[in-house]
Amino acid sequence: MNKNSRIITPPDDPITQKDRNAIVLSDCIFCKIIAGLAPATYIKETKNLIVIQDRYPQAPVHFLIIPKKHISDISAFTQQDSVIAGELLLMAQELSAMRPDTKQFKLESNNGSLWGQTVFHTHIHFLSGKIS
Ligand code: AMP
Ligand code: ZN
Repeated sequence: MNKNSRIITPPDDPITQKDRNAIVLSDCIFCKIIAGLAPATYIKETKNLIVIQDRYPQAPVHFLIIPKKHISDISAFTQQDSVIAGELLLMAQELSAMRPDTKQFKLESNNGSLWGQTVFHTHIHFLSGKIS
């Protein structure tokens, strides 16, 4: 675990042992990270989102913007998730402003195994950095 890695339990949203058990059983790696049951390199955290370093980066900068709420993919968003949906994009804007090398970037979201989704907890790939 490097110095940025940490295990997080959202302080304003404490999870109970019952929740923990449900998360372990659900076998969703992103829910486990969000609940502090698996490690990750955190870049940012807000009330509704986390941003972590992708474990297998495909670009010089490869972050994952992930809602804390378990939503399997973009098709599963409802009107109630409209705030979260907006915050996902605004977070990309915030990340791009973070450093000079992230000013230009690409967003990707795989929806369904046919299009390469491997973790069925929706997320946006933030790809950036200097390409030589
Ligand atoms: P996708 O294939 O679009 O569903 O994206 C899933 C992404 O999650 C991949 O780019 C993986 O490298 C990344 N990933 C899987 N497990 C972890 C983990 N434990 N920590 C960070 N990134 C992960
Ligand atoms: Zn999940």
